[in-house]
Amino acid sequence: MTAEKNSAQPKKIVLELSDVNIHYGDFHAVKDASLEIYEKHVTAFIGPSGCGKSTVLRSINRMNDMIPGARIEGSIMFDGEDLYGDQVDPVLVRRQIGMVFQKPNPFPKSIYENIAWGARINGYRGNYDQLVEQSLRQAALWDEVKDKLKQNALRLSGGQQQRLCIARALAVSPEVILMDEPASALDPIATGRIEELILELKEHYSIVIVTHNMGQASRVSDYTAFFMVDGQRTGYLQEYAETEQLFLNPRHRKTEEYISGKFG
Ligand code: ADP
Repeated sequence: MTAEKNSAQPKKIVLELSDVNIHYGDFHAVKDASLEIYEKHVTAFIGPSGCGKSTVLRSINRMNDMIPGARIEGSIMFDGEDLYGDQVDPVLVRRQIGMVFQKPNPFPKSIYENIAWGARINGYRGNYDQLVEQSLRQAALWDEVKDKLKQNALRLSGGQQQRLCIARALAVSPEVILMDEPASALDPIATGRIEELILELKEHYSIVIVTHNMGQASRVSDYTAFFMVDGQRTGYLQEYAETEQLFLNPRHRKTEEYISGKFG
């Protein structure tokens, strides 16, 4: 689905999902999802619990490959290339399309090593000190940790750990960053920092964020995809539009009911 747009300016499509169906064993979790993700914009996935937001998100960097019984049909094109093509290396996909999870999951290693590790296994030949500093700066964490880079990352606060995970994702130069409820485990101040960071990062990266928080979707995203579930508990894309349009002038009754908190 092309997002309904008011603005006439053409946007570059970075990801194009066409008729994506995802099964877990016999269970049809997502049906016929088609949508375009635009470069250097933030796209939010919203909808009631169980409607397939995380499932679709994981399909975008082939994380579902790791779930036994998960199966995908349809196509996902990334910069014009089929993400599920025979020649495609899922490890490379996950480098280009990074993921940040709901619960911050730094490695039980130093702050420095959390950043350097991914680069090292990718055979990075540049200056590691520079890479660590640049990644931490981009994730708005450098000033808070520059004097304790050798400290174990698990001693950071939850919000700092999440920004470290974002820095870790940035260190391998991705094009897209997927975020699965990145702030839902954080307090309001840490959440605000993550939201500010998302707005900074979209200058350079395309971002897809799953969120349960309507305010957050409206604050950080340019486009919003509203997913719903049918009577069989199968998720589908109900409406996709520019965020302002979806929140102020939704086309579907279900969208209107969801964003006004009538169910969730
Ligand atoms: P959302 O992110 O919108 O809450 P999910 O993508 O997590 O929804 O889940 C969509 C549906 O797929 C739900 O019915 C959920 O129970 C099911 N599901 C998710 N992950 C798995 C899995 N690993 N195995 C089986 N079913 C799953």
